[in-house]
Amino acid sequence: MLKLNNVSVNYGAFTAVKNVDIEVHPGEIVVLLGSNGAGKSTTFNSISGLNKPSSGEILYDEQNIVGFPPDQIVNLGIIQCAEGRNLFPGMTVQENLMMGGYVHRKNKIHVKERLEEVYEMFPILKEKHNESAGSLSGGQQQMVAIGRALMGDPQYMLLDEPSIGLAPLIVEQMFAKIKQINDGGTSILLAEQNANAALKIADRGYVFENGQIAVQGTAEELLTNEEVRKAYIGA
Ligand code: ATP
Repeated sequence: MLKLNNVSVNYGAFTAVKNVDIEVHPGEIVVLLGSNGAGKSTTFNSISGLNKPSSGEILYDEQNIVGFPPDQIVNLGIIQCAEGRNLFPGMTVQENLMMGGYVHRKNKIHVKERLEEVYEMFPILKEKHNESAGSLSGGQQQMVAIGRALMGDPQYMLLDEPSIGLAPLIVEQMFAKIKQINDGGTSILLAEQNANAALKIADRGYVFENGQIAVQGTAEELLTNEEVRKAYIGA
């Protein structure tokens, strides 16, 4: 299990995340909702070791991973797929995917198997494996970013705004793929502005406001919560 206990994160004198408690149980999809600047990415970066919390614990299978370097956290099986995709646009699709397989560099057969699994999940990437990542559509670039994270064999995947900038039909396909990844055994923590679509595939969720958790509940509770609907679903 991944568990944040009373985590706070500061940028200088500014506290971006305050006393946050989050749990992601094995097999779950948990969604973090909240407007821009509410603290979702900061929370993700604190889990993946890019930001160090000023206080609190981040427990992964009961081990406190606060202070671990990011590569060690990846090796433990927690892999972040960052907002904005962060691809290497001049490199080919396959080269980008192989960057995610770096953790298995001592096991070439495993890397090859993972690559075949990613191509099975996203056949268009196999078709375009030799094209530069920067030439792909937004949806395809997002597939590369998710595929690159999958190459590392995540136990827990942190997905930051995977639907941002995508057309509605592509968003629907993206969420179906996220559900498929989860059905394959990967637990998922998902930050999303697209609350309706995210809650439809999620088990539970937390709503961030000004760096704190304002509401939490099962996906069904959040989908029917009037304040959540008004603020994030628009109904
Ligand atoms: P978004 O979807 O826009 O990324 P978010 O909910 O992920 O929003 P964060 O990116 O975590 O929010 O930002 C939380 C707060 O911390 C915001 O007020 C933001 O301006 C601030 N912040 C984020 N990164 C830094 C930084 N490197 N230095 C200073 N302040 C930062």
